[in-house]
Amino acid sequence: MNALVELKSELRAISDLNAAAMVLEWDQNTYMPPGGADARGRQIALLSRLAHERRSAKRMGELLSELSAMADAESVDGALVRRALRDYQRATKVPAELMEAISNHGSVLYSAWAAARKANDFEAVRPLLEKNLELSKRYAEHFEVDHPIDAFVDEHDPGMTAASLKTLFSSLRADLVPIVEALLARPEPDRSFLDADYPEEKQLAFAAEVSAALGYDFQRGRQDLTHHPFMIRFSSGDVRITTRVDPRDFTDCLFGTIHETGHALYEQNIDRAFDGTPLGAGTSTGVHESQSRLWENLVGRSRPFWEHMYPKLQATFPEPLADVSLDDFHRAINTVERGLVRVDSDEVTYNLHVMLRFDLECAMLEGELAIRDLPEAWNARMEADLGTKPPTDTLGCLQDVHWYCIPIGGAFQGYTLGNLMSAQFFGAASKALPELDAQLAKGEVGPLRSWLTENIYRHGATYFPDELIQRTTGAALSPEPFLAYLRKKYGPLYDVEL
Ligand code: ZN
Repeated sequence: MNALVELKSELRAISDLNAAAMVLEWDQNTYMPPGGADARGRQIALLSRLAHERRSAKRMGELLSELSAMADAESVDGALVRRALRDYQRATKVPAELMEAISNHGSVLYSAWAAARKANDFEAVRPLLEKNLELSKRYAEHFEVDHPIDAFVDEHDPGMTAASLKTLFSSLRADLVPIVEALLARPEPDRSFLDADYPEEKQLAFAAEVSAALGYDFQRGRQDLTHHPFMIRFSSGDVRITTRVDPRDFTDCLFGTIHETGHALYEQNIDRAFDGTPLGAGTSTGVHESQSRLWENLVGRSRPFWEHMYPKLQATFPEPLADVSLDDFHRAINTVERGLVRVDSDEVTYNLHVMLRFDLECAMLEGELAIRDLPEAWNARMEADLGTKPPTDTLGCLQDVHWYCIPIGGAFQGYTLGNLMSAQFFGAASKALPELDAQLAKGEVGPLRSWLTENIYRHGATYFPDELIQRTTGAALSPEPFLAYLRKKYGPLYDVEL
């Protein structure tokens, strides 16, 4: 068998093992009864180990070295070899014992965190978190990097480093903090009508209608209920989304569904010939998040989109919304708040929450911030950026699961990268589609989706993020399009010069 054919067959087997593990994960997070937890954890771990063994196998190394000359080729197979080589190098860098120690400690830490968060008891989880930081540092030592966080960042957002992110984020933060201050100084929009009776069944039906209208293909996907919504891909023919419902607030289900639909539109529109290869996936966490945020915020919270959708929403929920004007509704779903919780925060303050986490994890990995000082550092930064101090650690440094189940580092920057990219991609799409606003106001999302498919989705992981952004927008990633978007949208909404 020739080496390329053998490589593709190996990659398909790895992809199938991963997909099988993901079906089990999907079930675990949707329908599995609690009693299934122990056996399910074991089953997923077994499939993950089998996939890892194949990914890091000696034969994989031989095939890739035989094919290494192809890694520079400007072809699909060239891109395939580049990705496979990268995955192999990452999979073989860290000793299996250390990976196992990290994974085992992650389970212990996760349970302790869940209890500590509930009890607002950071001290209870502190020693375990200190051990996680030690393991994270040991992991990073196996990579030749300038900063320990680069070992993690590179996995999720290839091409980015601590140095490039610090530059990007500090220029974003310098402009963002004054925008937030100016908006928070204005009167708050009336949101009282959002707190009303919104029957669950109607919410789910409306969210599914919106999802389908945006182009989510229910023949190749489905939506189910879960606690923490996510999108998951088993193959190009089966890309699923999940949601949750708060009967007193329809925005959680609706915007959550649009968010996951954005992730799914990316995955459903990747060239199907890439199935079973490393190219058959989004190219990075940041680019993936750019698509969920583009559909959720730049489309889903825009005035043109609701010109078309609002009468349908009013017809679905006549009791709370019949007397609420489109303008008032649009202001209410774009409220900027001094919030404490990242996942509940609006699109303006969201990045401040993310940059806080990124800076603190850099400081922890650098040895500049001790775990025992984490709560204080967290609270001080919240006061500096958002003018509010968490009353408890549950609402502070215990709120996110990330540091308490996987190594510390690299899990947050993708959210802000995604927000920045979403505005840059949307700007390029608007230039190519001069009628975009008018189209959205008529409910025509086809032209936008086709543009995104042509320029981003169909390529899967063929291009690394920096190359994709340059090709698609004609420029390197910059905070400017995002800042310009905020100024243009929120200045008039809050009647203030930004
Ligand atoms: Zn997302």
